[in-house]
Amino acid sequence: MFQTLYKIPKIVLKHYRKIVQEPLLSKFILKSTSSACADLHYKSESMCPMAKPKLVVFDLDYTLWPFWVDTHVDAPFTMGSNGKVYDAHHKHVKYYPDVPGILSQLHGEGIYLGIASRTSMPAEASDLTRLFNWDQFFHYRQIYPGCKITHFKKLHQQSGIPYEDMIFFDDEHRNIHDVSSLGVTCILVEDGVTKECLKKGMETFRECKGTKKPTS
Ligand SMILES: [Mg+2]
Repeated sequence: MFQTLYKIPKIVLKHYRKIVQEPLLSKFILKSTSSACADLHYKSESMCPMAKPKLVVFDLDYTLWPFWVDTHVDAPFTMGSNGKVYDAHHKHVKYYPDVPGILSQLHGEGIYLGIASRTSMPAEASDLTRLFNWDQFFHYRQIYPGCKITHFKKLHQQSGIPYEDMIFFDDEHRNIHDVSSLGVTCILVEDGVTKECLKKGMETFRECKGTKKPTS
C-alpha cells in the first residue's frame, strides 16, 4: 500500500523487506509451531468426518510461490518455448511443486477456489497466475494491499459462502489472526502449500466444523 500511495522506489522496499519484515515474520513463525502447518483456529472435541469446505482460499507470496512478487522478481513475465516462466532478467520464476496438483484436485472435487493476496503489485501477480495456467481453477480473486478481513468480506459477498465453510492458507501470522476472527478455518503455511499441508487443513476443517455457528 505504501508503495502504491507514495511511490516508494522498489530498491527501498526490498531493503525494508530484508531488514525489517523478514526477521519479524521468521520470529512469528518460529514461535508459532514446530509442525509443517499450524492451526490457529479453535479446537473441537467433536468432528464431522464427511465435512468438506465449499471454498478454499490461498495467499500468493510464500504460499503458492517462494518469493514476494513486488520485490524478488521483475515484470514483465514471459513464457519461454520450454513452457517455463521467466522474469525481465530471464530469471526462472518458480512455484511450490505441489501447487498445480493441489489446485487441480480441489477443482476436480467441485470445491471453489479463491485468492486473497495483499501484494502491492496485483497486475503482476495476476500475470503469473495466468502464465502458470492456474486461472482455470480460481473462481474468486481479491488481490490488493490491506487487512485481509476486507478480502474475505468481499469473498463472502461474492460467493454467498459462509465463513465456516471456508479454509484459508497463508504464511503470515497477522493474516491468520485477522481472518480467523471471521470464523474461517485458517492454516499457517511454513514452507509453501504441500499435499501434507492440505491434508492437515482438511482435518482441521472437519474438527472445527462441529462447533461453528452459521454466519449470515
Ligand atoms: Mg504470503
